[in-house]
Amino acid sequence: MHNLTIAELVKGLQNKTFSSQELTQQTLDRIHAVDPTFNSFISVSDERALQQAKAADALLAKGDAPTLCGVPIAQKDIFCTNGTLTTCGSKMLHNFVPPYDATVVDNYNAAGAVMVGKTNMDEFAMGSSNETSFFGSVKNPWDTNCVPGGSSGGSAAAVAAQLVAGATATDTGGSIRQPAALCGITGLKPTYGRVSRWGMIAFASSLDQAGTMTRTAEDAAIMLQTMASYDSKDSTCVDHPIDDYRASLNNSIEGLTIGLPKEYFGEGLDPGTQARVEEAIKQFESMGAKVKEISLPHSSLSVPAYYVIAPAECSANLSRFDGVRYGHRCENPADLEDLYKRSRGEGFGDEVKRRILVGAYALSAGYYDAYYNKAQKVRRLIKQDFVDAFKDVDVIMGPTSPTPAFEFGSKSDDPIAMYLEDIYTIATNLAGLPGMSIPCGLVGDKPVGLQLIGNYFNEAKLLNVAHQFQQATHFHTLAPQFLKGDK
Ligand code: GLN
Repeated sequence: MHNLTIAELVKGLQNKTFSSQELTQQTLDRIHAVDPTFNSFISVSDERALQQAKAADALLAKGDAPTLCGVPIAQKDIFCTNGTLTTCGSKMLHNFVPPYDATVVDNYNAAGAVMVGKTNMDEFAMGSSNETSFFGSVKNPWDTNCVPGGSSGGSAAAVAAQLVAGATATDTGGSIRQPAALCGITGLKPTYGRVSRWGMIAFASSLDQAGTMTRTAEDAAIMLQTMASYDSKDSTCVDHPIDDYRASLNNSIEGLTIGLPKEYFGEGLDPGTQARVEEAIKQFESMGAKVKEISLPHSSLSVPAYYVIAPAECSANLSRFDGVRYGHRCENPADLEDLYKRSRGEGFGDEVKRRILVGAYALSAGYYDAYYNKAQKVRRLIKQDFVDAFKDVDVIMGPTSPTPAFEFGSKSDDPIAMYLEDIYTIATNLAGLPGMSIPCGLVGDKPVGLQLIGNYFNEAKLLNVAHQFQQATHFHTLAPQFLKGDK
């Protein structure tokens, strides 16, 4: 059953081919048996899952079950889950059990989904390799010597290893799309404000957005339909009509105009990755799409602007972890200052500390204008590049990440090399646009992702374009070696 997609699981449950309790038990057994190799889960919630499955079976028996009724999914461990450990990949929250569910989790509860566990991630979602998790790195199911990408590497690996058909994830600068690319699956980051951030532990509030990890675009449409909602508890959540994402999946893409930014095909792009992306574009042309070269002239400024804005916002957001109210507290503090210093010193890992230091510096008096304000002005220019480009094209395409999955340790001592992993994804977050990564082939035995960037709130178009590609190609059905012959 583990190789079924969400759409197939929904059908199987509704036709009573299997019950949610059977499916959930099998899913949990498989996670316990297989995941020790990959470490994609921080916690597995057997009890909560089996209770939800039982309730789902009762609803399914009545015949008026909601969309995802009985389907096992995983939540990234950045979402607060009532009564269930929520760590954000950090020692700081190693013992944090929230008293409420995030809005995203609530939406899945309302759709009848079964939460089987919480997925591993870079600490506070800072990273591109999952090597910064307090709970150990996640191994890429395609090659366990390689990283799965980050920060949502646990969600990506869990879906690639077919432990779950779908998982939630978050993307501040590429954390859905880059791990989806490195693990050979489909990742969707919606428009900023499409999905509520309430109860999602904040990294950089003006960039963070929740989305989906699945094997197919059709499943991403089903999950986004569940997650997208207007939420008055998140003042940045936008009250914008929600499309029926599945309804337009089969629309023809004849006449679609694809923009190819010349800045996304230059120096630093692995030749094999470039070849797979170009073949994918040719495939679209053979399906009736037109290609237009475009320019996003401020692209080279996106990584530097992001590494001022994101740390600045993180230094403010992470000031709440003080050892007083929840989370890690040092032993025997001498006084209040000692409590703050040692709790934070012991609770945060090196990358998080680096970001807090950079952010506090960029925001400090005398430097604010030189760094933070300047970065915000650059951000405006980056956004304008996209607004101009979308006057002439429907979708922008390019590589998701400059290289396929890399080996553990190969970039962890070089922050700049690690930061450049997101060179093609960060601008989308700075502009607030939706983006996707879909599998488009292999380099050697490692998957490559094609990035699709859409206009504001046009997730339906992205999903349609991705689905049409997946109807015509088999790349999304390729699976890691260890799954061969495993039914
Ligand atoms: N890799 C980027 C960073 O380290 C993006 C992370 C993310 O999207 N959460 O900040």
